[in-house]
Amino acid sequence: MNLEEINAVKKLLSKPQKIVIVPHKNPDGDAIGSTLALWHYLKNMEHDAFIISPNSYPKFLKWIPGNEQILNFEKENSQAKEKIKQASLIFTLDFNHLGRIGQMEPALEEASAEFIMIDHHQAPSDYAHITYSDITMSSTCEMVYNFLEFLGDTDRITPKMADCLYTGIMTDTGSFKYSSTTSRTHKVVAQLIEKGAENTKIHNLVYDTNTPSSLHLLGCALKNMVILEEYNTAYIILSQEELDANNFQKGDTEGFVNYGLTLKGINFAVIFIENKEEGIIKISFRSEGDFSVNEFARKHFNGGGHTNAAGGRSDISLTETAKHFVALLKGYKEELNS
Ligand code: 5GP
Ligand code: MN
Repeated sequence: MNLEEINAVKKLLSKPQKIVIVPHKNPDGDAIGSTLALWHYLKNMEHDAFIISPNSYPKFLKWIPGNEQILNFEKENSQAKEKIKQASLIFTLDFNHLGRIGQMEPALEEASAEFIMIDHHQAPSDYAHITYSDITMSSTCEMVYNFLEFLGDTDRITPKMADCLYTGIMTDTGSFKYSSTTSRTHKVVAQLIEKGAENTKIHNLVYDTNTPSSLHLLGCALKNMVILEEYNTAYIILSQEELDANNFQKGDTEGFVNYGLTLKGINFAVIFIENKEEGIIKISFRSEGDFSVNEFARKHFNGGGHTNAAGGRSDISLTETAKHFVALLKGYKEELNS
């Protein structure tokens, strides 16, 4: 953020505002952690602030301090719409185009509030009055820390806020191992621990959450893995039937896609998950090295994200989607083998 933008934010926050904070649909640890950290900060500054999530989020995030006050746009629709209408300021966090909030998009488009975007995904659109976008950042949580630093307010980071921010940085960096993790990321994390983030407890609360069914579902996914050595690619298919048979709960498939990358020589891993209720196939893409899954997802599967982690969707059947995907790989053979 430049000085002009920082001063504009300071001016906005110098008087009481009605604020709505929005994460992307199917919010992950970074989306929930960053919105909650910002919410605590704004509430402590006596602003009238609410988080409205487009839909629900996994159980392994339901301990994060303050999460019980998050409104669900799907379930608390009229209350959420009213808050958006009344808002004087709307923060959008961890996404950068309004298509990422699903059914909530029209409500935000009609809002009269000023928008502030904080996000680290590629190719931001320009709906916000103030855009803090940086694709080199590990996470939106790291950016919220920077945002507070720009405002001269890191002293206002409470232990609860430190827990929120630590969670998002941890989940978005794969526990500090992805290439987006910099020395600065570690410095921020060190500060958060000094400010009271309970690192070991957070790891347990987020990662040690398996149930017998979720482990059986992982077994099913690993059994279904198809390895295409020719393309250094591995993919997994999970049907609605398999999800149902293993008592699928939101969040149970988190991280499954990464198993493909643990195979020697594999640098492109994909998972296709059928969602009968929404009538779509949700896809996650991961890569190691230069192959941009962001570009691949954007071009072929109506999605996007980062160079090494992206998501997308397909509206044709599960098997047709996988067939289409395998056919596409021919055009990327050289890239995937370099
Ligand atoms: P995941 O595969 O874990 O759902 O998402 C990986 C990354 O891609 C995340 O940064 C997420 O925000 C982004 N992402 C996931 N799905 C979509 C999508 O449908 N569209 C776009 N633009 N980004 C997505
Ligand atoms: Mn993120």
